[in-house]
Amino acid sequence: MPANHSHLPLNLLGQSAEELRAFMQTLGEPAYRGAQIHRALYAEHRFDVAHMSNLPVALRERLARETVIALPQIVRRYGSSDGTVRYVLTLPAADASGAGKATKQATVEAVFMPEENRQTICISTQAGCAVDCHFCLTATLGLIRNLTAGEIIGQVLIALEENRARLRPQTNVVLMGQGEPLLNYEPVMAALRILLDPNGMAITPRHTTLSTSGIIPGIERLGGEKVRPKLAISLNASSNEQRDEIMPINRKYPIEDLLAACARYPLRPWEHLTFEYVLLGGLNDAPEDARRVAKLLAGLRAKVNLIPWNPGELPYQKPAEARIEEFRGILEEKGVRAFVRYSRGQDVMAACGQLALLESAAPAAAASALPQISPAR
Ligand code: SF4
Repeated sequence: MPANHSHLPLNLLGQSAEELRAFMQTLGEPAYRGAQIHRALYAEHRFDVAHMSNLPVALRERLARETVIALPQIVRRYGSSDGTVRYVLTLPAADASGAGKATKQATVEAVFMPEENRQTICISTQAGCAVDCHFCLTATLGLIRNLTAGEIIGQVLIALEENRARLRPQTNVVLMGQGEPLLNYEPVMAALRILLDPNGMAITPRHTTLSTSGIIPGIERLGGEKVRPKLAISLNASSNEQRDEIMPINRKYPIEDLLAACARYPLRPWEHLTFEYVLLGGLNDAPEDARRVAKLLAGLRAKVNLIPWNPGELPYQKPAEARIEEFRGILEEKGVRAFVRYSRGQDVMAACGQLALLESAAPAAAASALPQISPAR
């Protein structure tokens, strides 16, 4: 298990089955107690050791003294008319899980989106982000800090618990909130292993999507993982010139290198890549853009999600309706599957690219520096 040098109580949330088994052994308990805690936490959602009734009383008392189960705290909920709920969450400063040291308090967001037969939960992997996409308000925060595995998992657990009465049988999880998941690789993978563990939270890889701005070394590393989610790439441009302008990360990982990494990515038989493309009116939504995108993606097992820009704080325009359909039609005609995705929860600003309401852990923070759910990711 990760060394806890912080003298803070160990956060059980975010610990893997192996880590919990090893922890039990350090306490002089049989290892199978770790599996019991794992099940209680992730499958039964028991967040108080006093309620882990299959553990002996003395162990429960000891765990209550020496460990914590630190879930993110809900600061505010915003409900939308379409059923979407946006959660503003604070992450306590003293989370020792996996980090081995005290961390700064941070504020992030998670979004619960109900649909007829399923729910989708969008979660953050970092507070703020260092990647600096120009159409994204999270970028204005810079990177505040990486989240721990427990903080990543905690967002899913909170959203499920809060909506327990209306859950559908299928849960989708998308890593598309604040942050670039592949720049917080280890905690993200630790969280995903718990999420995707049939004995843990039991979300399936087919229903879990990690979205990246195109961090090539991270994509290559992810391809080598035994347990991994689906992969989505935020493309948003049809040429290097255009992408350099809105996603400076493109100067480090240009389109041709990114697509070569995508071509090498070891897709499972059922799997395809998703390319996200925010349509910014007058900037990247022309028919020639669509033709260039189709050419770039030719030969890849892929689909494109077109996300019309939501007008907000940033100086980009909503694309014309006719342009959206024309763009989609060109991709389809050239053999690239393309779908238009309208963002959910626009009236509570849970939609991609929209500024969060005036909530922050630091009340003095300027409105422009508030966290938001990142676009196209
Ligand atoms: S779009 Fe994603 S990668 Fe880009 S700055 Fe925003 S959070 Fe970071």
